[in-house]
Amino acid sequence: MLRIGLLRTQKVVEMNLKINKLKVKVGGPSFASSYAKATDDKKAMEGKEILKGVDLEVGAGEVHVVMGPNGSGKSTLAQVIAGNPMYKVHSGQITVDGKNIIKLSPDKRAKLGIFLGFQNPIEIPGVSVFNVIRKASQSQVGPASSFPPVSAQLKTKSVRNGKSSVNLRAAGSPSTTVTQFRQDLLKYASSLKLSSDHLSRSFNEGFSGGEKKRNEILQMLALSPKLVILDEIDSGLDVDGLKLVAGAIKKFSILNSQSSIILITHYARILKYIKADFVHVMTDGKIVKSGKQKLATEIEEKGYQFVNSL
Ligand code: ADP
Ligand code: MG
Repeated sequence: MLRIGLLRTQKVVEMNLKINKLKVKVGGPSFASSYAKATDDKKAMEGKEILKGVDLEVGAGEVHVVMGPNGSGKSTLAQVIAGNPMYKVHSGQITVDGKNIIKLSPDKRAKLGIFLGFQNPIEIPGVSVFNVIRKASQSQVGPASSFPPVSAQLKTKSVRNGKSSVNLRAAGSPSTTVTQFRQDLLKYASSLKLSSDHLSRSFNEGFSGGEKKRNEILQMLALSPKLVILDEIDSGLDVDGLKLVAGAIKKFSILNSQSSIILITHYARILKYIKADFVHVMTDGKIVKSGKQKLATEIEEKGYQFVNSL
């Protein structure tokens, strides 16, 4: 398999991610500003260690599931891989094809092909779905700073929401014309049963929970990332919504067989549709157990206590 070097071209054909002894605290560069007006409680979080030595290797084309109790650090791990400046990596490494990416900005990581589907997608009032995805797609070719408006808006929203969210969108095929791009998006939107006016709606504003999740998947389909991280994409979906979203992820993984997927979930039910190569359990900032798909069903049946008892 041809692999293009990370630093030469800023684009890899496939992605091998290696996380080594990763320790992360709350309190990256954007923490102070976002909590400048926050309560003492929030401020007291600064410096709190959330990830306490995570090891994880994700090879090209692999599907990894990460499960774990609420508050164990799953979303933080996702955010840190994508480069959210809310967090400070104080020890350990995240490498892509052997190159440390910790110093890369979220936009540069997105350009490499890292995509994060948020647990709580952000709203951008006044900016259409089409424009957000188009800009993200275009930014794959230009320098990372080509499209400050979108990234600036996303960062503004992240401050308002108090957590997560920077511009983490990777990009698809930059050479397509606007018309082709719109046609592709319409096709994807329709396959996700999103309404015909979806592309002109204000980004996530007034969307139902299910629409927000499907909108994350729409971006994934449009941008063809090399590493997809989906944070609780299946939470809050009804049976039909789950089938739809899981079906889209499955199709994506078949069409993009070299793309890797990290699926953060509480439920084994999505694994009826998508086959996991590995299942990991995270507890208190560490991956404490890894196994095959069977581990997910066992956890669902017996709870996380089961892992502790092994
Ligand atoms: P999970 O996704 O597994 O439920 P999270 O990664 O969201 O867990 O959170 C892990 C812990 O870190 C929680 O105690 C959460 O409150 C804390 N945390 C995460 N992000 C922040 C942040 N930006 N500011 C303060 N605390 C945070
Ligand atoms: Mg979470």
